[in-house]
Amino acid sequence: IGGHPKPQEGPTKPSGVQRILAIASGKGGVGKSTVSSNLAVALARQGRKVGLLDADIYGPSQPRMMGVNKRPASPDGKTIIPLHAHGVTLMSIGFMMEEGKAVVWRGPMLMGALQQMLGQVEWGELDVLLVDLPPGTGDVQLTLCTKSELTGAIVVSTPQDVALIDARKAIDMFNTLKTPVLGLIENMSSYVCPSCGHEADIFGSGGVAAEAEKMGVPLLGNLPIDLDTRLAGDSGTPIAAGDSPMADAYARIAEGLIK
Ligand code: ADP
Repeated sequence: IGGHPKPQEGPTKPSGVQRILAIASGKGGVGKSTVSSNLAVALARQGRKVGLLDADIYGPSQPRMMGVNKRPASPDGKTIIPLHAHGVTLMSIGFMMEEGKAVVWRGPMLMGALQQMLGQVEWGELDVLLVDLPPGTGDVQLTLCTKSELTGAIVVSTPQDVALIDARKAIDMFNTLKTPVLGLIENMSSYVCPSCGHEADIFGSGGVAAEAEKMGVPLLGNLPIDLDTRLAGDSGTPIAAGDSPMADAYARIAEGLIK
């Protein structure tokens, strides 16, 4: 993978893929990859055919969060056979790299890799392909929005001001690129102490709902800070794969995503 992108005519979508949804964030560390893997698993549990493309070039998390990490087969040296985990068809730039090695690529190489992952991976028939984007508003976002037929984008943010400022920029970028913003997801909205039940708003409260209203986009859900969510992600089995209030919260968000 890598190399230079081939010039393409207009936006494209892998044949067999009904819709592509991008999961974005302004800032890193707000839980974009956690939300992506859990929504993918929740959608799969609802009987959807789901693909997850981890395009977070600088910090691919899906091999760890979905619990698979091996080099995908490419029998003809051109097409790439994706991996499967928890009912989800999966491709990550991380499968092509050694864990712990940095990616030092210029824009054209990033764009080439993204276009290969979209165009050369045998995604098969999918109801939805989720794309876990890198944080921010860079080359990968620009390429995805202009070269692929995106159905829409979902922006993940914590309620903290510094995260919200960047979430606003991400929404602004999608508006400029005419990619519909399906809504905002508030992650790490509050923390309930498991021993005493006290609820603390570690990153503030209500900020994402207020921002959603201001920007005129729906609030798709709030997800609290939850130790089991973090442990599940680290263990390679997303919390949405089990039965818990968090799994129910992801299921509710997933239900509203595909009309
Ligand atoms: P991003 O993709 O935005 O960089 P990640 O999904 O990698 O963020 O999340 C950053 C860290 O926060 C990870 O260790 C993840 O397990 C943890 N995390 C994400 N969401 C939650 C949550 N709701 N509760 C607890 N930990 C979370």
